[in-house]
Amino acid sequence: MTSLWPRIEPLLAHVTKPARYIGGELGACEPDHGPGRVAWLLLYPDTYEIGLPNQGLQILYEILNERPDAVAERAYAPWTDMEAAMRAAEVPLFSVETSRPAADFDILAFNLSAELTYTNVLNLVDLAGVPVRAADRAAGHPLVIAGGHCAFNPEPMADFVDAFALGDGEEVVGEITDVVRRWQERRSTDGTSSREELLVALAGVTGVYVPSCYEPTYEAGRLTGVAPRARAVPEKVEKRTISDLGAWPYPKQQLVPLVEVVHDRLNVEVFRGCTRGCRFCQAGMITRPVRERPAAQVDRMVRSGLDRTGYDEVTLTSLSSADFSGIEKTVTSIINDPECSGQVSVSLPSLRVDAFTVGLAAEIQKVRRTGLTFAPEGGTWRMRQVINKLIREEDLYAAVDSAFSQGWQRVKLYFLIGLPTETDDDVLGIAALARACVEIGRRYHRNVTVTASVGGFVPKAHTPFQWFGQNTMEELRRKVVLLKDAVRGVRGLSLRWHDPEATTVEGLVSRGDRRMGAVIEDVWRAGGTFQEWSEHFDLGLWTGALERAGLTLEDAVYRHRPEDEILPWDHVSAGLHRDFLWQDWQEALAEHGLEDCRWTPCYDCGACTGLGVEHVVASSVAPAGGSQGTGQDLEAGGTVPVRFLATSTHAPAAPVLAGAAAVEAGG
Ligand code: SF4
Repeated sequence: MTSLWPRIEPLLAHVTKPARYIGGELGACEPDHGPGRVAWLLLYPDTYEIGLPNQGLQILYEILNERPDAVAERAYAPWTDMEAAMRAAEVPLFSVETSRPAADFDILAFNLSAELTYTNVLNLVDLAGVPVRAADRAAGHPLVIAGGHCAFNPEPMADFVDAFALGDGEEVVGEITDVVRRWQERRSTDGTSSREELLVALAGVTGVYVPSCYEPTYEAGRLTGVAPRARAVPEKVEKRTISDLGAWPYPKQQLVPLVEVVHDRLNVEVFRGCTRGCRFCQAGMITRPVRERPAAQVDRMVRSGLDRTGYDEVTLTSLSSADFSGIEKTVTSIINDPECSGQVSVSLPSLRVDAFTVGLAAEIQKVRRTGLTFAPEGGTWRMRQVINKLIREEDLYAAVDSAFSQGWQRVKLYFLIGLPTETDDDVLGIAALARACVEIGRRYHRNVTVTASVGGFVPKAHTPFQWFGQNTMEELRRKVVLLKDAVRGVRGLSLRWHDPEATTVEGLVSRGDRRMGAVIEDVWRAGGTFQEWSEHFDLGLWTGALERAGLTLEDAVYRHRPEDEILPWDHVSAGLHRDFLWQDWQEALAEHGLEDCRWTPCYDCGACTGLGVEHVVASSVAPAGGSQGTGQDLEAGGTVPVRFLATSTHAPAAPVLAGAAAVEAGG
């Protein structure tokens, strides 16, 4: 086996946090590379501390290593000091498990979860000694593959990535392995199979988008289409969706690092998908429908995970974990487990804004009571109707009252500014809500802290806001100043905001077409790595590159798109009908909310009806409490495609396709 360790070890004494590069985590595999095994290097394009906990990467790591015909190792972006040392010593990128050179792997597979990491992807491919542009790679080079939420607009990275995997990765990684293995076998026998043949074969796998098989066209500076170059590839690439999360109880061996990382605790995914319908939320839109893990399996994964790792904290992960059917029962059973002897704390990453949920949080955070976080997102009820985050003020105040009355002294509120139709009154509404929360807290405690954390809104592909012209950098700055002035002098209230410059660049890349590749490459060549880190972010690199590419912020970021404009991601599908998204955009402008389709009739967004999948839930009724759990109009709409988990007391004996009546009866 090729190991670079003798050349890596001398570098480690001279860099910060050398443990980032040595692997050795509990749960790490010792892969057995060999003929007939497709070797995957799974890469997270940020530091080890941020990348290691990534659940998607860990799930695929195990699934691949369980296959007899695959092996998987991992690599993360070396910090700038290590990169400099590696380049000076001519040490290429290597895996953390066996210090194997990245270029020795068959596949370099990147998780793309943030646009500002794109320049790091180029840097890692380059550090591997692989040509950065896909067109320059030969048959002997590894395939560069990317997945994750950002892959739903693949075009900005189309020049650098050989193939994108859209949607859930559990099944498709096996199919990609099969295609690569068969191609390698043919190549070793006849020696003629070309890289192009491999790419066309990959384009035939459902959920795989191969950019080189598609040609973008432009007219008068605007994209007019992205069409297949050959008949063998589909016009539209559909995402992959696993229908049954219970069939994939991964990770079974969560990695336990030797150094502190973010989210350093046991993580158990309780469901995938979300149909709350927040119109700004790409994750919710592209991961539909909702698929719950059976509660008994969650229980088993928590118990075995705690036992194996020694962690005393578990996070039940999902986009909205308080919506998991029977969440109360699940967390009560964990914290009351005699084996945990009252020492295990449970956290839910996304609380609903209602007093019921706070009561639940009080129950489960007996061991460690840190701050509570709520995300009303909009400062006024009008704004929250536009974004479909249907939280009423009285529910927010009841939740905050409940939190302070039960002993919390710190509350964090998340908001967005720069939302569609936003007025200064909506922005100032953020300050008013936060001030009111401080006043509620003072009824219970002398010293309370309410932090209003404000992000700039970036419209994302496959959401109803994909047509919206993002607020300019100057407008976002003005709104931040407005807020700063409004909260000045309020004791106990602190304001945090995201840098409008970084928000603008995120927007530039997130909705870019293939021409954005030149901008990304230019920024990388000018040394712009770790752009999501404020100390490395450099707006000048981006604006300079944009100008050299002949593009403008006005056109690429700030402009509203008309309904008939071809969008760069129209040829990839997250299952959502374009006309549903447009209709929902019009509903937003009319300030109309839309209830959660998990508990109300179907709006035919396409995610279930188009892909032949269904919601998998244990309870047919909305959770108790507050405006986020009530108000459904069960009389209107069509049939809800839903399968009830057999373990639930609510569950019918067999899977059903439930109509509105069945939803009511099921409750
Ligand atoms: S197809 Fe219907 S039930 Fe399924 S996510 Fe879309 S609106 Fe909801």
